[in-house]
Amino acid sequence: MTIKVAVNGALGRMGQTVVRAVHAEPALQLVAAVDLNGDHSDIGTTAGIGPVRIPVTTDLADTLRQTKPDVVVDFTSPFTVMQNIATALSLQVRPVVGTTGITEADIEKIREWSAQYQTPAVIAPNFAIGAVLMMQFAAQAAKFLPEAEIIELHHERKIDAPSGTAIKTAEMMLKARGQALPRPVEEMEKIAGARGGSLDGIHIHSVRLPGLVAHQEVIFGGLGQTLTIRHDSFDRTSFIPGVLLSIKEVMQREGVIYGLENILNL
Ligand code: NAD
Repeated sequence: MTIKVAVNGALGRMGQTVVRAVHAEPALQLVAAVDLNGDHSDIGTTAGIGPVRIPVTTDLADTLRQTKPDVVVDFTSPFTVMQNIATALSLQVRPVVGTTGITEADIEKIREWSAQYQTPAVIAPNFAIGAVLMMQFAAQAAKFLPEAEIIELHHERKIDAPSGTAIKTAEMMLKARGQALPRPVEEMEKIAGARGGSLDGIHIHSVRLPGLVAHQEVIFGGLGQTLTIRHDSFDRTSFIPGVLLSIKEVMQREGVIYGLENILNL
């Protein structure tokens, strides 16, 4: 069975990458492209694969009603992603969401909607398999080297900070180490924010620069040693295998799957 896919945020950097990947995958059929800046131009032409006779529309609900996709992939904006998910679930279209900025409280809300409309969803702060492994290894290391800080580095156009991946990594590390660690000294920040943000004591530093895509390192400190676990996405294609796998899996699953690790069964 061919899975019908709509892409929301289709004119964006990730959206266009997903459009090309869905078009190239025989098991999937691109049926709709939506973007806030849609002008009804052909998404295939914009994405560089030649005309596919799919216009970029602006009204998500209207487009989903008309094209009836099985799945909508969302790479839009942290400001509107919850509304997009609500729209998709209410129309019983399965959302596969890469847009970041979704909190634990938001996930609970999505679980309620998913149950209400009996429609599954995948929410993944990071679709790169290497990044998911990095998070798992960091959680493992936190049991033995509990003192750690996270540095995440992204391109200069990223809106939210810290990244969804950094928050999720810190949450996994906190769960794994299971204890609060008081700082050994009283600190004095001479420039506000110099020590980064703190998620229950794990400091997170966000770097935004042109030339970067998505990178993160977790530095653990112990007696006379450090351990650095680092992942680099050099290109947006690094997210595609995870997105395609999620599109196929959301057709088989129930409820809300939060994190690619729960699809990979790590
Ligand atoms: P981008 O700015 O290049 O693209 C976003 C697109 O969404 C734009 O074309 C914009 O017009 C459109 N848009 C914004 N609000 C919209 C709405 N309400 N409805 C329809 N379209 C809307 O950004 P990007 O680099 O493609 O990233 C998009 C999101 O994906 C960000 O939150 C980013 O952090 C996240 N991201 C996640 C992963 C992952 O693996 N989960 C990977 C890369 C990026």
